[in-house]
Amino acid sequence: MICLAHKIELKPKNKQKTYFKKACGVSRFAWNWGLAAWEKSYQENKNLPKEERSPINGMALKKEFNKIKKEQFPWTFEVTKYASQQPFIHLNTAYGRFFKGISGKPKFKKRNKSVDSFYVGGDQIKIQNKKIRVPNLGLVRLKELPRFEGPIRSATFSRKADRWFVSLQIDTIISPKSPSKEAVGVDLGINSLVHTSDGVSIPSPKPLRKGLRALRRASRRLSHKQKGSKAWGKQMLKVQKIHMRISNIRKDTLHKVSSYFTSQYKSIAIEHLNVFGMLKNHKLSRAISDLGFYELRRQLEYKSEMYGNNLVLADMFFPSSKKCSSCGNIKKDLSLKERVYTCGCGISLDRDFNASLNLRNLIKIGPARSESKPREMTALDLWRLSIGSTSIDELGNEQQASMSKFA
Ligand SMILES: [Zn+2]
Repeated sequence: MICLAHKIELKPKNKQKTYFKKACGVSRFAWNWGLAAWEKSYQENKNLPKEERSPINGMALKKEFNKIKKEQFPWTFEVTKYASQQPFIHLNTAYGRFFKGISGKPKFKKRNKSVDSFYVGGDQIKIQNKKIRVPNLGLVRLKELPRFEGPIRSATFSRKADRWFVSLQIDTIISPKSPSKEAVGVDLGINSLVHTSDGVSIPSPKPLRKGLRALRRASRRLSHKQKGSKAWGKQMLKVQKIHMRISNIRKDTLHKVSSYFTSQYKSIAIEHLNVFGMLKNHKLSRAISDLGFYELRRQLEYKSEMYGNNLVLADMFFPSSKKCSSCGNIKKDLSLKERVYTCGCGISLDRDFNASLNLRNLIKIGPARSESKPREMTALDLWRLSIGSTSIDELGNEQQASMSKFA
């Protein structure tokens, strides 16, 4: 059994938003109260001889707070009891980390400046029909269902801009998968999402392409506004919103893609993330595909660990695009415009297909079978394959009419 987190956006009504804000306020208040009390005891203890010092900890402070809250802070009862209780446990952890030198001294939380959030224990949380039951409030709509099955350990509600999210910690059992295929090389494209050494190409989902166009437009508009002005701020918010939407769609698609790889292949080879390239690249589409790559790698890493796949990361300087997958010759210059890789040895391949074959050849179990039939699959197809609701042969029949990039 392992505990996995899934952050889901909420669709709260106005009344529910008010409750969330209140619960965040109570949580922040309890944290600040505890922190002040902790500091006060610390100052008082400091000059006392060791044996006269009273121990300070979050649990003792919580007891103290509970003694007075009914009289002094009756409004804390308007929300879940967790909102005023959990901060003391968090405070304990935070001081523990501080004493061990892992992190800085706990700080006071400022309204609007700190992340607004509150915690609810799993015993008080229930999911039913795409809704989450929150104590003292009732059902709040979820944008999607939890990805994992199992009992909920806890839920943390938080706000980002004007949107609310819940991060669910779920205890789930991972059933080991038995991939039938040996190895795959995965190349993350710029124009399409992913190319594999089995000849599968996955185009970016349509909403993603639409989002990218909207982002380009919005960013252009932003560049025409005076930095720091009111109009600039407004436009900036727009850009951020589109960004968030794109990253959500991308994340969802990448989950389908990464599940497909870990369920189907024993070994998976991917490119090394070029951090330097990421930092100095100003091209929007490139920057975004880099982000996608980072996310795909993150997912493949934790899923491989979960399911026991062998994940191979190419060396940072491995020339996956420039190398000929057939004879090994390396082209010095290969412009991004060259979509087909041609080599003196006679091969002529889609550029990304060639790169994925090179990655696949990093896995030491014989050469890739480049004769396998190329086909285009959607993220949904991959998802259906990885959960076993369809087989690759069935898909092949369904998709005979669909276009294939390298055919
Ligand atoms: Zn060659």
